[in-house]
Amino acid sequence: MRFVSTRGASPALPFSEALGAGLAPDGGLYVPEELPHFRADDLAKIPDDTLANTLAEVLKPLLGNDGLSSALPELCAEAANFDIPLLPMRGTGDYVLELFHGPTAAFKDLAGRFLAASLARLRKEDAPTQTVLVATSGDTGAAVGAAFLGREGFRVLILYPEGKVSPAQAHSLGAFGGNVRALRVEGSFDDCQRLAKQALGDASLRAEVPLLTANSISLGRLLPQMGYYALHALRFQRAHGRTLNFIIPSGNLGNAMAALIARTMGLPIGDVVLATNDNPTLAEFFAGADYRGRDAVPTLANAMDVGAPSNFERLMWLAGGDAQKARSMVRVQRISDERIRSTVRAAEARHGIAPCPHTACGLAVLEDLRAAGDTRDWAVAATAHASKFVDVVEPLLGHTVEAPAAFAALLARAAFAERMPVSIEALKQQLRA
Ligand SMILES: *Cc1c(COP(=O)(O)O)cnc(C)c1O
Repeated sequence: MRFVSTRGASPALPFSEALGAGLAPDGGLYVPEELPHFRADDLAKIPDDTLANTLAEVLKPLLGNDGLSSALPELCAEAANFDIPLLPMRGTGDYVLELFHGPTAAFKDLAGRFLAASLARLRKEDAPTQTVLVATSGDTGAAVGAAFLGREGFRVLILYPEGKVSPAQAHSLGAFGGNVRALRVEGSFDDCQRLAKQALGDASLRAEVPLLTANSISLGRLLPQMGYYALHALRFQRAHGRTLNFIIPSGNLGNAMAALIARTMGLPIGDVVLATNDNPTLAEFFAGADYRGRDAVPTLANAMDVGAPSNFERLMWLAGGDAQKARSMVRVQRISDERIRSTVRAAEARHGIAPCPHTACGLAVLEDLRAAGDTRDWAVAATAHASKFVDVVEPLLGHTVEAPAAFAALLARAAFAERMPVSIEALKQQLRA
């Protein structure tokens, strides 16, 4: 299988070369040249025993005869070395898909680990050290840092906007040490992203300092996310004879695209509803308006503060360029900060879980579906553990929230992040150091 740009004017690449790429040279996003389709008898052969095994089978036709194909089972086992359970929520008949059991307690761990494992395998032994440059609004930087920590031949430089990530996120970003360094930038997430793009677009800098991206548009960060939707959709169908529907808290649409691609490939995934925060871009498009990207507005669910979802172009590709078709494939609902607060406050009594602010958007959508009389089977994707956002959730829950062991260990370490102005010269200096 080869991968082409959504804009159709870049050379096709094999998986190995496309997986870590950012934008294609024509400004589009890489997508498979053709989406494989599992027929009923292929589907019946996909295992549902472990996440790693399901993931390997689902990715197999996408890799085709790529150089990484023979390593796929090991790469998936290395990436999925933690559980992603589907659990019934107390007393409601609804489910929560807990995506937060990885090292940094957010869903981005799984694909971050897959990308790092793949790039490490592709690395030639005598290659110079590669710097993974990543701009983050909180969770991406930690997932990428953890995934590359201690990997020979790689170092990570994380740019995050000072004061605009949660205190727990800020601490975790600076706590890795070793080959992972964090810079707190005196600006916004957009400033961080702009600086990273500028550095990555600077050929003479790249000749001096070999750079890699690990941003959320790279296929290595997107496709592995099909694994958990596939695993639980298959298990659910085999156990109950019904399809499971998913509510996915969304910002850049990376997580949700994985579910939609898996469904298009034939996996028994039912309806998908995107839960967004108060950033209106997607809700307006799905209500019939033309797509209009804009600046993000800050909300309590900061990892979804996105005004121009970077994967929108992939959604349009999946819909064959037809906006009406895109609107028929998935629905979206926008959740205000006020609703996030009331949902977190009531979640333990109503659902038996303590959600992060992003997961709370999903729970709010579920409550509205039930209130409208929907009786189907729904799972809400819990995209992060509440302990990453204690400043928001603890006052609402009225008690403290314990971090899972791996993330607690990160928080217990000393943290350091150097301050940096919004300046490409300052970034170049850091990259040369
Ligand atoms: C990144 C993130 C999201 C948004 O995911 P997208 O793939 O950008 O749609 C939602 N919740 C949490 C906790 C995140 O870290």
